[in-house]
Amino acid sequence: MTARILMAVTGVVACASVTLAQIPDDSPVRAALQRAETAVIAIEAIPGRKRTFENTIVALDDMYGRLEIDTNMIRFMPYVSTDPDERDAGERAEQDVADWLIDLEKREPLYDAVRAYAERASGLTATQQRLLDHTLRDFRRAGMSLSPEKRAELTTIHKTLNKLSIEFEKNIRQDETTVPLTREELAGMPDEYFENPSLRQSGDLYMVDVSYPQFNPIMEYCQIEQTRHKMWVAYKRRAGTGNVRVIEQIIELRAEAADLLGYDHPADYEIEIKMARNADTVIEFYRKLRPLVRKKALRDLEELVAAKRRHTGDRDAKIYAWDTNFYLNRIKKEKYAVDSKLVRQYFPLDAVLDGLFSITQNLYGLEYRDVTARARSQGRPLWHADARLYEVWDKATGEMLGEFYLDMHPRPNKYGHAAQWGLVQHKVWPDGSVSKPVAALVCNFAEPTADRPSLMSHDEVETFFHEFGHCLHTILSESTYYRFSGTSVERDFVEAPSQMFENWVWDADVLATFARHYETGKPLPDDLLDGMIRARHLGSGMAAERQFFYGLYDLKCHLDPDGDIDSTQLAWDLWDPAGENVELYDPVPETYFQSAFGHLTGYQAGYYGYQWSLVYACDMFQRFKELGMLSPDAGRYYRDKILSRGGTTDGMNLVRDYLGREPTMDAYLKHLGLDAE
Ligand SMILES: [Zn+2]
Repeated sequence: MTARILMAVTGVVACASVTLAQIPDDSPVRAALQRAETAVIAIEAIPGRKRTFENTIVALDDMYGRLEIDTNMIRFMPYVSTDPDERDAGERAEQDVADWLIDLEKREPLYDAVRAYAERASGLTATQQRLLDHTLRDFRRAGMSLSPEKRAELTTIHKTLNKLSIEFEKNIRQDETTVPLTREELAGMPDEYFENPSLRQSGDLYMVDVSYPQFNPIMEYCQIEQTRHKMWVAYKRRAGTGNVRVIEQIIELRAEAADLLGYDHPADYEIEIKMARNADTVIEFYRKLRPLVRKKALRDLEELVAAKRRHTGDRDAKIYAWDTNFYLNRIKKEKYAVDSKLVRQYFPLDAVLDGLFSITQNLYGLEYRDVTARARSQGRPLWHADARLYEVWDKATGEMLGEFYLDMHPRPNKYGHAAQWGLVQHKVWPDGSVSKPVAALVCNFAEPTADRPSLMSHDEVETFFHEFGHCLHTILSESTYYRFSGTSVERDFVEAPSQMFENWVWDADVLATFARHYETGKPLPDDLLDGMIRARHLGSGMAAERQFFYGLYDLKCHLDPDGDIDSTQLAWDLWDPAGENVELYDPVPETYFQSAFGHLTGYQAGYYGYQWSLVYACDMFQRFKELGMLSPDAGRYYRDKILSRGGTTDGMNLVRDYLGREPTMDAYLKHLGLDAE
């Protein structure tokens, strides 16, 4: 499993008491902020006796929805644009909008207006009540119950945090880590690796960077351990020690803010609004789970060590982090007859895309139309020749539901992982008009070469299905309010629809619909497919422990009341066999993975949510499978019960309602390969 990220620029809004004059004159989003400001002033000016749900609470939701529509494209550009000026303007816009929101949520007259309405509120529907409660909750969490002095202090902290978070993410995106390697040092790499047009050469040396298409194959195929080691260490030093200082400053400021707001530590502040509710529940989750998974991890390690000893002839050989994928690959080949290089040949990107499209169109009653050619004339920007735009139509109603962008290949300065952006959220406006959602999938799959299409590894196919799961969560939303649209669910539930959908790439009937050899067009041979499925749990214990490490690391960063941590030592302590011993590898000195651990901004004290959501994803998948993985009825049911509802009710209610019973961990344990325990 790779670290995936969902960037929802939605829902949980940051927060301000500014007047028009405080919006910077040269801000690239000045007009949008002025428009928002005007809307806020109008809400505040309503006389007490005329205050209604619509003109106060809904009007505020309208303001947020409008501001997002007015600013989202410019704020998205730092992640995808090739133009440095456009990226700079986007970062500036991000900062100005966030600063304005920080002030907004601490703005006394607006809070008074919302409270004045809350005091007389009556006859609200459950969703309306939820919108009111969440609005009040946002104000409380932004510091409205503090004295003006303390609130001013909090404002300064929040604005500094905002600036530092932008810097942290920018340093990751701008990282240019490159490792010069000779052809000999790259022994074992498949021929197509060297055909990658992005792989630069300098004399006899290959200048290998840490983008996925250049880094991942080395971990899988390179025969030279020193090369894998060198690349792995370079990868774990991305964004440099400068970013270690930035993240430590961020963690300290988060602790100061949590303290001002009366929480024990930032983790409790962050988790309060999630399914888990507090840090103790998450700690307990890991405490129960880790011993179960450890047994499987030990078996995994044993298998890997044996494979390495066979391969190297060294009877004392140990397994290091940079060995895992290489030896998993060898075991797959030796024990399951699965050659991952061969598997790729059955997953050309276009066939995967067609397959994914057919499956989801059929399941959810949709039709996708490629409208790239007329995107610009419809006012939809295309930031690069790789960007494509699709419309999503509902077959039953003949209605256009939304649009999504695909941007599939890496390039310099582009966001380096795979993620879904919700650019526009579903929203019903007071006049009855509807904003249709717009999503963007930003991925980094290998580019096609002159004589070969882009070939995807099975892991990449899984990643693509994962992100598309987020995309449909955004597009199929039917929420009236911006606040609850699409992926605006609890952050420890948001990865459930995406991770559930990963299961489709592990089903023989599903794969039979699209896996085709890129040259011969022949379907994936049965024995190869059978081997892939049998090898699914290979290394699953160690992979789960890797996820526990990330989750516990992120959590522990946010448990110190003063935020006074040595972020490198903290990783070491978790890893150390004499310490927490979360993983079975020896720790590696001189590395500081946290400098490029992008989840620390946006998912702070929330990385655990991947495993937490996975429990529900697995349980929901069981139900989906019973109903039929390719059945339009099953799709309709899931669309109605989960996807269309967004955050209009708690995640736990959604799950119960979909399952028709209380959720359990059984399916999750089976997913980890532990059902035999
Ligand atoms: Zn995700």
